[in-house]
Amino acid sequence: MKLGDIGEFGFIDRIAPVGMVRPEGVIKGIGDDCAVMSLSGPEYLLVTTDLLVESVHFILDWAPAEIIGAKALTVNLSDIAACGGVPRDAFISIAIPPHIDLDWLDGLYRGLSDAARASSVNVLGGDTTRSKGHLVINVAVTGLVRPQEVLFRHTAAAGDIVVLTGPTGRSGAGCDLLLRGERRDDSSARSLIAAHLEPRAHLREARILAESGAATAAIDVSDGLSSDLAHLCKDSGLGAILREESIPVSPDLVRAGMELGKDPLDWVLHGGEDYVLLAAVKPEELTLIMETAARKGCTFFPIGEFVAGAGIELIRADGTRLPITPRGWDHFR
Ligand SMILES: [Mg+2]
Repeated sequence: MKLGDIGEFGFIDRIAPVGMVRPEGVIKGIGDDCAVMSLSGPEYLLVTTDLLVESVHFILDWAPAEIIGAKALTVNLSDIAACGGVPRDAFISIAIPPHIDLDWLDGLYRGLSDAARASSVNVLGGDTTRSKGHLVINVAVTGLVRPQEVLFRHTAAAGDIVVLTGPTGRSGAGCDLLLRGERRDDSSARSLIAAHLEPRAHLREARILAESGAATAAIDVSDGLSSDLAHLCKDSGLGAILREESIPVSPDLVRAGMELGKDPLDWVLHGGEDYVLLAAVKPEELTLIMETAARKGCTFFPIGEFVAGAGIELIRADGTRLPITPRGWDHFR
């Protein structure tokens, strides 16, 4: 059997049981955005790690080193956000091939440390080694969250509202524009390309969700709205209904769709790398949390609801129902 037969998530399910030898203090191991541990303090410790490989996760020609460095940290901060936490410290390991020069590396670390400083995150260690092939960057980030505020994937309830903390699809469209040869500085669709290269971790939105007590579960949208919603549904034992007319689609996404001959809804549902949060919110708390978010300069989008059962359905603007098959990112398929 090959990895492609079981996919990334089949592989994770296969290796998950092997690691646990001492369950005390482990609140959540493999299978959420962060591992969650209870030490002796009043807060839970969150740990997340992400591996980025040249030409799998980033193309060196697409952006200056600073931008790649900042994104390497941001994708980890996004996982801390998905658990409702506040990030603390980062550890950066890098395997460097001969085609990378020192100026470029300086830029990478400048981007990383600027992004870390902006979120009050220390860089406390890591490792460096030579690579015979591609550049490989691994970032690990720790965070803290109060036990009553931690957000998991498996705790949504039927009737909860599906809430996005920002639009999806923009990063996927930006990636397709880059693949077509458009570049960061001279594209009319600059903001879509920026959405792909310079995402923002929704740490502020995470704290609004966690502090309010209104959110019952959350995940960050890294693989695509359909896939990440499917992860949340599967772990919570639920299905979901999305309403097309409630899903945000920006005018520049529609324009890019016409230009590239693609239905913008495709990017919105399956694009990936948005790094917004997808949360389950108690219906009776929705109005209050929308108002709180707006007061703090954030916009939350209620786009559907969780239901008993399984599977995701989209109610189109004309009332027809369309089953949605998750087909976001899976590394091994
Ligand atoms: Mg995640």
